[in-house]
Amino acid sequence: MTPEHVVTLGRQALEMALKTAPQLILSDWMLPRLDGLELCRMLRSSPQTQGIYFIINTTNDTGDELVQGFEAGINDYIVKPMDHRILAARLRGASQVIRLREQSLRDREEMRHQLSHINKLNRKLESLAREDQLTGLPNRRAGLEFLDETWSRATRSGESMLVMLMDIDHFKRVNDTWGHEAGDIVLQRTATAMRGAVREYDKVSRYGGEEFLVVCPGADVQYAYDIGNRIREAVEKNTIDSPVFKGNITISIGVSMRNAEHQCTRDMLRDADEALYAAKDNGRNVVCIHTRIDA
Ligand code: GH3
Ligand code: MG
Ligand code: MG
Repeated sequence: MTPEHVVTLGRQALEMALKTAPQLILSDWMLPRLDGLELCRMLRSSPQTQGIYFIINTTNDTGDELVQGFEAGINDYIVKPMDHRILAARLRGASQVIRLREQSLRDREEMRHQLSHINKLNRKLESLAREDQLTGLPNRRAGLEFLDETWSRATRSGESMLVMLMDIDHFKRVNDTWGHEAGDIVLQRTATAMRGAVREYDKVSRYGGEEFLVVCPGADVQYAYDIGNRIREAVEKNTIDSPVFKGNITISIGVSMRNAEHQCTRDMLRDADEALYAAKDNGRNVVCIHTRIDA
């Protein structure tokens, strides 16, 4: 047990309890001005002191008084004149209760700590499950989720949107000539160049292999040309100078603007893919925008 403090007034006891947070208070029932019962009630009403083990010392152990005492929150009582063997026995009981309570508080604290650790790990896992490990870009799942959200928002608000599919030109050659590790470096550097070329509310994700998806909320046709060419040029001008690969690469881009024929995001992706094929057919390193047959 911690060192003891002896005070003679109820109010002093209250101040001392707030200051020193004792484990146990042994108090007379009769104290000048603030009596023991009132002191106990006040301690119970404050979160800092409500757990203090409180024993009251009384001359009167009639049923009514004791009921009143327990209602005020006392844990135990000792009848005057005090028998020291009984006091010692009561204190042993008290210290057992206090030990158990402190142990349970420590357990609860430990559990809270572990829970916060688990929550942190879960958040990390969740973000890892949405991130492409090689490029650090959102992965296909995260990219498609963003596409769905953008689609729903655009459906509600009527604002325009576009998707782009981008594919590295002759990427197989990079792997074949420089090796797979070089291919990985090219993917990483290209991803960084792409991400640096878009607005902060556009999302570039790794769609698969050497294909990337860009979703641009609120974008019109003019923006489609601008952003498509900005990304294409950013990649083309990005000279990669690494121990395993030196040089520049290019990408082809297929764009699909949302239009009335699109029933769902899959329709937009299909059009972007068709436009990407057209870009490859047109010699690569170009942007093709899918146009409606009736447009
Ligand atoms: P095109 O201009 O028509 O797109 O030709 P391409 O050579 O880029 O196209 P193709 O689809 O034939 O080749 C894609 C290659 O990308 C094949 C595959 O081995 C490679 N690839 C896919 N994912 C990765 C990766 O994570 N790392 C590396 N190094 N290569 C990858
Ligand atoms: Mg490809
Ligand atoms: Mg390719």
